[in-house]
Amino acid sequence: MGKVTGFLEYDRKDEGYIAPEERVKNYKEFTVPLEEADLKEQGGRCMDCGIPFCHSGCPLGNLIPDFNDAVYKGRWKEAATILHATNNFPEFTGRLCPAPCEEACVLGINADPVSIENIEKNIVERAFDEGWVVPQPPQKRTHKSVAVIGSGPSGLAAAQQLNRAGHTVTVFERDSKVGGLLRYGIPDFKMEKNVIDRRLAVLEGEGITFKTNTYVGQTISVEKLQNEYDAIVLCGGATLRRSIPIKGAHLKGVYQAMDFLKQNNERQDGVTEWDETIVATDKNVIVIGGGDTGSDCIGTSIRQGAKTVTNFEILNRPTIERPTEQPWPYYPMRLRTSSSHKEGVERVFSISTKEFVGDASGNLTGLITSEVEWVTNDNGRRELKELPGTEKEWPCDMAFLALGFTGPEKTLIDQLHLDTDMRGNVKATSYATSVSGVFAAGDMRRGQSLIVWAISEGRQAAHHVDAYLMGSSQLPLKDEDSDLPRR
Ligand SMILES: Cc1cc2nc3c(=O)[nH]c(=O)nc-3n(C[C@H](O)[C@H](O)[C@H](O)COP(=O)(O)OP(=O)(O)OC[C@H]3O[C@@H](n4cnc5c(N)ncnc54)[C@H](O)[C@@H]3O)c2cc1C
Ligand code: SF4
Repeated sequence: MGKVTGFLEYDRKDEGYIAPEERVKNYKEFTVPLEEADLKEQGGRCMDCGIPFCHSGCPLGNLIPDFNDAVYKGRWKEAATILHATNNFPEFTGRLCPAPCEEACVLGINADPVSIENIEKNIVERAFDEGWVVPQPPQKRTHKSVAVIGSGPSGLAAAQQLNRAGHTVTVFERDSKVGGLLRYGIPDFKMEKNVIDRRLAVLEGEGITFKTNTYVGQTISVEKLQNEYDAIVLCGGATLRRSIPIKGAHLKGVYQAMDFLKQNNERQDGVTEWDETIVATDKNVIVIGGGDTGSDCIGTSIRQGAKTVTNFEILNRPTIERPTEQPWPYYPMRLRTSSSHKEGVERVFSISTKEFVGDASGNLTGLITSEVEWVTNDNGRRELKELPGTEKEWPCDMAFLALGFTGPEKTLIDQLHLDTDMRGNVKATSYATSVSGVFAAGDMRRGQSLIVWAISEGRQAAHHVDAYLMGSSQLPLKDEDSDLPRR
């Protein structure tokens, strides 16, 4: 382990942030890295517990105490090797993961947990800076071919693993650039897109082919892929957006969050034509939904120069402390305050939107809400109850619906006649769908989730595809029964 008494000697230190009033002037990432000496001390806080619960807290099973130890000893290249053994893209998770590993860190029982996510980010950034992240093409090819549909984190992870096993991999993506929600959902201030591009160059260097602007099921038929490839991996995400079927939902000014975020990401990428009506400048903005998507709408609205930004969440305000019914090492539902929340937003909890109000020209002018409380009914189920007399009208020119996603689109599911689970996701036990040779991974299989889960799914699926093609597989496989319940 790093330093035997490290956790007693050093307090947790996190990377710094440029002040909100400065950082909102542009879309760049705004973190300020720790000095190397500080990072080593942070690695030295790891206790190398007999049972490292962080391993099971991390959906990828990252070997956290091992890379912490290497960082403490200044062995950065070794740390990068350890990290990449379980995580294809630590530069994504090191920036964007909600770090369930830290909630499961043993030190977190009575002190601040080890700053695992930040250590992860610094290892991979150092690896890129030093030129250690280079293409590793397979030594020999199997002459089997795999089509991966979708280039989000699950598709990219599956592609890299399968290519490293020697298969010839082509990734099909309907958007004009690769990355899925990493590119078109998540704003630059959380992750600049050159972070995707530099990894993409490595994947291309390893021999993976990317075909963008190719919509499988529309511009190219899935039967063609079935005929031309030995296996198909569906990584199309869970992109069906939840809407809010209330009066006024059709008004001009009510937009789906992804329409707003995608347009802004494209603008930052140099697209010169956009819909000026989906720009928040000088508007009173209300973001409905308190998750990651809502938070990204807040940060983007503020950067576009919104007059006011308010965020509604139908759930009660969680406690800052871990709730007693979600004890360590489980991932607790506690109050999360993102960097965007600190940039100037009013957060309102326990509130339900009842109606959008418009003017004679069909433009949104306000929202009518009421306060709600969650009660447990006679059957022990939680129910939403409106509080009488709490109706209120809020002035609003622009409302973003950040209400989550209901599941994968039906195009490929219908065309392939795939079985689905109760939630409408592709049913793929051990990642194999009901159609031979067709596999599924990521949000398309598990429903709306996290980047770390998408990478894990892509890796797991790759093992099963490889075993299907070759009879057995040397690709790593995580114990699928060992996971802690989590998001
Ligand atoms: C705004 C927003 C912010 C988020 N922030 C975070 C965060 O901070 N941290 C975190 O961990 N998670 C976050 N998430 C969740 C995370 O982005 C997803 O869980 C993850 O991207 C899922 O990966 P995926 O590969 O399964 O699918 P996706 O990333 O959705 O990629 C699917 C890809 O498949 C393509 N595709 C679909 N159908 C076809 C077809 N028929 N032909 C060709 N291509 C097709 C799509 O165009 C897309 O590029 C966020 C999600 C959103 C919406
Ligand atoms: S990927 Fe996420 S959960 Fe895993 S070690 Fe990194 S921050 Fe923790």
